[in-house]
Amino acid sequence: MCQSIPADKFTVPAMNESGGVTTMPVPGRRCPCCLERGDTVWVIPGKCCPVCGTPVN
Ligand SMILES: [Zn+2]
Repeated sequence: MCQSIPADKFTVPAMNESGGVTTMPVPGRRCPCCLERGDTVWVIPGKCCPVCGTPVN
């Protein structure tokens, strides 16, 4: 594990104007519960972690 995450952002698939799917950076937080297990799970603040269901604010 020598992975570094430089910014508090991640990318999600999103529709662009021409109808294709692109990725765009969105602000997010890493789920603290999953982080303890060694998993990096990005959660949009105010949503719940899709893996463990922990609310992330
Ligand atoms: Zn989680």
